[in-house]
Amino acid sequence: MATSTTCNEDSVLSDNSEPQFDAVIIGAGAAGTSCAIHAKMNGLKVVLIERDKLGGVWHNTGATPSKALRASAEIYHLIKRSKDYGIDSQINFVSPSKVFERAREISNQARQKLKQKLDEFKVPLIYGEAMIVDNHSVKVNDKLLKAHNIVIATGSQPKILDHNNNSKIKNLILTSENIFNIDQVPKTLAILGGGVIGCEFAGIFPMLDTKVTLVEPKERILSAFDPEISEFLIERFKKRGIEVLVNAKEVKITENGLQINGREHFYDKVLLAIGRNYVFPKGIEKLNLTLTKYNTIQTNEYLQANHNIYAIGDVASGMVAHCAIEHGRIAALNIAGKKTPFRNVIPHVIYSSPEIAMIGSTIIKEEEKDKKFSKKIIFKENLRAQIESRASGFAKITYDQNHNLCGALLACQRAGEIIGYFTIAMQHNLTIEDLKKVVLPYPTYSEIVRQLINDF
Ligand SMILES: Cc1cc2nc3c(=O)[nH]c(=O)nc-3n(C[C@H](O)[C@H](O)[C@H](O)COP(=O)(O)OP(=O)(O)OC[C@H]3O[C@@H](n4cnc5c(N)ncnc54)[C@H](O)[C@@H]3O)c2cc1C
Repeated sequence: MATSTTCNEDSVLSDNSEPQFDAVIIGAGAAGTSCAIHAKMNGLKVVLIERDKLGGVWHNTGATPSKALRASAEIYHLIKRSKDYGIDSQINFVSPSKVFERAREISNQARQKLKQKLDEFKVPLIYGEAMIVDNHSVKVNDKLLKAHNIVIATGSQPKILDHNNNSKIKNLILTSENIFNIDQVPKTLAILGGGVIGCEFAGIFPMLDTKVTLVEPKERILSAFDPEISEFLIERFKKRGIEVLVNAKEVKITENGLQINGREHFYDKVLLAIGRNYVFPKGIEKLNLTLTKYNTIQTNEYLQANHNIYAIGDVASGMVAHCAIEHGRIAALNIAGKKTPFRNVIPHVIYSSPEIAMIGSTIIKEEEKDKKFSKKIIFKENLRAQIESRASGFAKITYDQNHNLCGALLACQRAGEIIGYFTIAMQHNLTIEDLKKVVLPYPTYSEIVRQLINDF
């Protein structure tokens, strides 16, 4: 664990009974660092506390390294597909360990950049475990920090299964916490859990020549999302030789792999992607906060868990880095007295291959059928996708009688980029006719937006 601080700790610590800070921010991941920087931009006096690595799950074991791993896998996969583009190439896997080394290096760089930014805004950063003392005081490294507000940005960590200290089972298990530290690509991998993280890794490892089995206890993968996504991905996964086992109700980790519904299956590694536990600082019970049914901290639209306690990021149901960053900004504005509600217009991306991106709701319930409508096209209509031999997928929107957008779903190359158009439209309450006035360059993947709404 790092020990440096951005400024002299002694200058920010004292035992005064009067609050020294506008806010103490606990957790220097996506949410906490964003909150600290925006607080500084608004002239607030804050201090940021981190017990582990700067950047949290965001830069160390989540969003950033997983995208770096995916980038290497895609390059390798594309070279193997080079014949489809009229190019004959012979490739060998230079070194699997380099692929993971690169992901770690990208994480390091992201952490350094974040540190520079905190320094630029003169955010005091203290390394140590923060503990809640009361609703104005936090203890760290035996020092007491007093603040008008406390911001809880402590994130989440992967759920793990009990392995009874069996070292063989322990060696078999991977989670998103340790997967970037391996230096060999497993030949066979079972991924337990067909949610976003499970599906993302299920897309990455086959590109690195791993035989992957995705194991889901529910009747479909990505059960929290539009069923069309599950159908599409299952089909894609099967085409790529990924085995998908749904309804796998009774699953036990064994020394050799998994026992699924009573049958033994052998795997080199088992990746647990069975959900997240939310991390709360010690002493949080003193704040009398309310939890949601998902065990996250309940907040109001200003992200207040109670009047001077804010909860942001994963711990407040953020669940994606860009939501955590926006939570941080909104909490800082509210602490600065610039009353600003959080608007939940947040896109979600599943970084499978191809990507799946969505915003709003794309499911029309039975009782909404005379008020909401949908339009869907297949991606083959997009010329850029055809030119690049990446034309699988579809795009769909839902809208109301007045042609206001209710949601958009893209399952195609660059979906994560294109969803931005729909995000802007929904954030600014644009109608489909407004969106139609936007001219998009030919030939680009983003033209799918126009192709989808052309006949309105
Ligand atoms: C494998 C994986 C891939 C992902 N991919 C994406 C993606 O592509 N895009 C995306 O948007 N999101 C992605 N996510 C989700 C994203 O990483 C999280 O939503 C984001 O990191 C949440 O930010 P946060 O600030 O709430 O929590 P974190 O980033 O986890 O930060 C919380 C910090 O609080 C610290 N902390 C906890 N308790 C204390 C304490 N008592 N005292 C001091 N410090 C404390 C922790 O050490 C940690 O550094 C992914 C997640 C995973 C696991």
